[in-house]
Amino acid sequence: MKITAVRPHVLRYELEDHFQSAFSTFIDRWACLVEIQCDDGTVGWGECLGPSTANAAVVEAMASLVVGRDPLEIEPIWLELYNQFRDQGQRGLTLTALSGIDIALWDIAGKHFGVPVHVLLGGAFRKEIPAYATGGFRPVGRDRRAALEEETAGYMAEGFTATKIKIGFGVEEDAEVIAAVRAAIGPDARLMIDANHGYDAIEAVALGNRVADLDIDWFEEPVTPELLDAYCEVRAGQPLPVAAGETWHGRWAFAEAIQRRAVDILQPDVCGCGGLTEMKKIISLAEVAGLRLVPHVWGTAVQIAASLQVHAILPPSPPRHERYQPQLEFDRTPNPYRQAIVTRPIEHEKGMVAVPEGPGLGIEINRDMVEKYSV
Ligand SMILES: [Mg+2]
Repeated sequence: MKITAVRPHVLRYELEDHFQSAFSTFIDRWACLVEIQCDDGTVGWGECLGPSTANAAVVEAMASLVVGRDPLEIEPIWLELYNQFRDQGQRGLTLTALSGIDIALWDIAGKHFGVPVHVLLGGAFRKEIPAYATGGFRPVGRDRRAALEEETAGYMAEGFTATKIKIGFGVEEDAEVIAAVRAAIGPDARLMIDANHGYDAIEAVALGNRVADLDIDWFEEPVTPELLDAYCEVRAGQPLPVAAGETWHGRWAFAEAIQRRAVDILQPDVCGCGGLTEMKKIISLAEVAGLRLVPHVWGTAVQIAASLQVHAILPPSPPRHERYQPQLEFDRTPNPYRQAIVTRPIEHEKGMVAVPEGPGLGIEINRDMVEKYSV
C-alpha cells in the first residue's frame, strides 16, 4: 500500500451570533481536515487544531515527504516530518499539522486491518465515555450572567451532569457569574472554569480563592502557557486543581510541565499534541508522574472520533473498583458542520458518548458536506 495524495480541506462557517473567550471573538468557525488517499482506494481522515489556513499550508508542505510512503509506517513518518520541521518550531503549526496527518494514518491503518483505532492502540478500558458540555462563552450583545444561567441549566435538562464555562473577563464579574452558574446547575453537577490564559498569577490566585467553596473540578489555563513558574504560583496560592495542555504540543512540552509540577491535570489535544502517536507517549508520561489526563477537544466529528479512541485507551490511574473516568470535552457551541461532515453524527445520550466501533476512527465522511463548507 502506498500513499498517493495528502490533501487539506479548510472549512468555514460565518456565525449569526458572536461569542467571546478571554482573548478571542468568534465570528466564524474554522476547521482544517486532512485527507490521505492510498493506491488501493483506502482513504484516511485527520484534523488539525488551530489556525486552519496556516495548518493547511504546513500540511501541503509536508505532503511531498509523505506521498509514496507506506501508510503503515506511522512512527517513521512521524519522526521524519517532525525532524524536517523542528528547526522552525517544536510546537505550534509543526505539531498541529503533523497531528492531522498522523490521525489520518491511524484511520488508514484501522481500515486496512478492519479494526477500530483503539484496538490497534492496545485495546479499550471503556467503551462509553461520560461527556461534559463545553460552552458558557460570553455572548456578544447579551447579558452574560443571564445567558450562562440559561445555557448551563439547559445542558443539565439535556442530560449532561457536567459543564465548563469561560472566564478571564475580570475577577469580580467572573466570580459572580461562576456562583450564578453553580446555582443554576445545582449542587450535584460537575463544573469547570476555563480562563483561556486571560489572567496573570495575582488575578488567578484571587479568583481561585473567591470561588473555592463552589466545588469546581478544575481551573483551566489560568495564565499564559509559557509561564510555568506562574502556573506553580497559581497551584500554590489557591485550592482549585489547575489544568492546562491544549497549547503544549509534543512530548517535550508536556515533559517540561510535568517535571515542574505546573498543573494537576494535563489536557493534551489529539489534533494538536502530535496526533495519536504522540498522545500515547504523553499518556505514559502522565502515568509515570501520577498526573490526571483529560484530553482537550475543540473540533469536528473527526476530532471527536479521534478523541474517543484516546478516551477508550486511557489507563485507569489508579485501577480500582470505582474508577475516575476522564470526561470527554463535548463542544455545544454553534457549528453547523461539526457533525454534518459525517454520515452518522456522534451524539450523547444522557451525557454519555459511545466510542465508535467501526474500522479506523469509526466514522464515514459526508463529502457533500465537506464540499459545502470548504473555502
Ligand atoms: Mg481550554
